[in-house]
Amino acid sequence: MIEIKNLQKSFGQHHVIKGIDLTIDKGEVLCLIGGSGSGKSTMLQCINGLHSIDDGKVLVDEIDVFDKATDLNKLREKIGIVFQQYNAFPHLSAIENVALSPRVVKGMKRKDTLDLAAKHLEHVGLGDKLNHYPSQLSGGQQQRLAIARALAMEPEYMLFDEVTSALDPELVGEVLDTMRMLKDEGMTMIIVTHEIPFAREASDRVAFFDQGKICEIGDARQVINDPRELRTRQFLERVL
Ligand code: ATP
Ligand code: MG
Repeated sequence: MIEIKNLQKSFGQHHVIKGIDLTIDKGEVLCLIGGSGSGKSTMLQCINGLHSIDDGKVLVDEIDVFDKATDLNKLREKIGIVFQQYNAFPHLSAIENVALSPRVVKGMKRKDTLDLAAKHLEHVGLGDKLNHYPSQLSGGQQQRLAIARALAMEPEYMLFDEVTSALDPELVGEVLDTMRMLKDEGMTMIIVTHEIPFAREASDRVAFFDQGKICEIGDARQVINDPRELRTRQFLERVL
């Protein structure tokens, strides 16, 4: 379970996260929607301690992310994160990219990490691309490679930050399908997305961010089909 309590975050004078309370249960899929600059990425990056915070608490399985005694590297093994920009190492093949962290971080044997990497690449539909370099993959394939890299650490939570935003429209579907597959397997996920129909149909709950706060949160269909808040309604009218 991830618990966020009264989270506050400023960059200099700029108050970006203004008191967020949020709990994500094991097995739940939560989509975060909202306008540019509303704080979605910042909040996501607070969950695995990529940003410091000014006040509040973030607990992952009751481990306090911002407690000085917390081993952040250990914690991050639980939490996979995939960003909009592809982040594969260009000089490594797909299989070597996926095998790297299990070897370096977990100290697994090379042979075992290659088997593990092949398994995860097959899982995301890249079983025929094991020896391709990132530059030889399409954008959608590179994003699936990024997902396989995160999965190879066998995380309990996956965070996605606009993983389809940089893709050509015809490549978006294959990446959304990969996230749907993970949902069906029971992965706990927080997904920042502008794909509103995907959020409605693939998530359990949707949270609408507005100016550093959660303006509305609830059942995915309710929030998107029948928002209670005027700000949510106005946002959805602009983007749908
Ligand atoms: P988008 O939909 O455009 O990705 P977002 O909801 O993810 O937006 P954030 O990236 O969380 O928004 O940014 C929230 C605010 O914090 C923005 O005004 C942004 O300029 C500011 N901000 C984000 N990161 C930093 C940083 N490292 N230093 C200073 N300001 C930052
Ligand atoms: Mg963002």
